[in-house]
Amino acid sequence: MTRYRFETRGVHAGHGPDPTTGAIAPSIHLSTTFERRSTHQADEGSSEPEPWVYSRDGNPNRRAVEIAVADLEGGVDGASFSSGTAAAHGLLQALDPGDHVLVPARLYHGTLELLRDPLRRWGLSFTQVAMERLEEVAASFRPETRLVLIETPSNPELTLTDIAATAELAHRHGALLAVDNTWMTPVLQRPLELGADIVLHSSTKYFGGHSDVTGGVLVTRKENELWQRVRRIQVKGGAVPAPFDSWLIRRGLASLAVRVRAQTQGAAALAQFLDGHEAVERVCYPGLPGHPGRDIAERQTEGAGAMLSLLLRGGEAAARRAVTGVRLLTRGTSLGGVESLIEHRAEVEGPHSTTPRNLLRISVGLEHPADLISDLEQALRGR
Ligand SMILES: *Cc1c(COP(=O)(O)O)cnc(C)c1O
Repeated sequence: MTRYRFETRGVHAGHGPDPTTGAIAPSIHLSTTFERRSTHQADEGSSEPEPWVYSRDGNPNRRAVEIAVADLEGGVDGASFSSGTAAAHGLLQALDPGDHVLVPARLYHGTLELLRDPLRRWGLSFTQVAMERLEEVAASFRPETRLVLIETPSNPELTLTDIAATAELAHRHGALLAVDNTWMTPVLQRPLELGADIVLHSSTKYFGGHSDVTGGVLVTRKENELWQRVRRIQVKGGAVPAPFDSWLIRRGLASLAVRVRAQTQGAAALAQFLDGHEAVERVCYPGLPGHPGRDIAERQTEGAGAMLSLLLRGGEAAARRAVTGVRLLTRGTSLGGVESLIEHRAEVEGPHSTTPRNLLRISVGLEHPADLISDLEQALRGR
């Protein structure tokens, strides 16, 4: 579908009218097993060359997501999992025991927990490094470093990392670069075009877009050995998404571009309102003029995204007061849905959290920004 523009591919990539019924909306293929056709392997009416045999090995709804996300990210193939964390697990398990991974000082806490426990016991070691400081990254490679896994913007303080420069560093040290692109989505940032090797997504967020489905996807720039291993882990490990979940995610992709752009506009309006508000010490949003990563944002993104964090004056008590004072924003974790969410991030991350205690994280949804601003205004005033 590369001859079409992003929005068009978002609607059409990976599926079309049903060849047998003409249905425009894709069918949900619940069947766990498929008829063996001894004379020809694949269904002739299907654009899919591969035969369907058993649903853990492959399913048409799951494949539609993989083709579409790979297309939108500019990769050659995708593999979808039952959650973003299962996708991260699949990628990390494709490394060997004894291998070493570089990850950001601040990264999604679920990925960190994965590295800390199951994968450490499995023999994978890791180092956390401030990815925005390239000299520090360069000094952290070991002979056994196989992978650099970054998030940009980072969670929850929205620090930006230069993808092209990090890819170059990783490759020079014989490692691959994987980018968790959940927050930006390919609408705003396409890491594979900047030299990254693998892209990771939690489809639970913007891809699904309605806070009603859990999923994850990996996309690769090349068919290499690592990718063969990822494929085997997906199918043999079996952490695959259900057909209906895949159907919801494929449907979400059709409106991804308009949702992300509108949500980004809303976030920019909120960031502007909060920046300079007397109750606010600092706003973390890459679209603000004073953000330290502004030059990187301009080089590698097509927008600042719809996530922002704010640090309140008055410490944790003020933050907790504000988060319980909202009426329209919903207090809850996660992101990327049509409804705006706010959370006291340190509380969600638990006792090991290093997130500032006065930080609130907001996922901006599709409500009118003026309504969200009024709500935050009254919550910050303390009613
Ligand atoms: C939510 C999230 C994940 C994990 O995804 P799940 O679908 O919850 O397993 C990974 N990375 C980032 C950046 C996320 O926001």
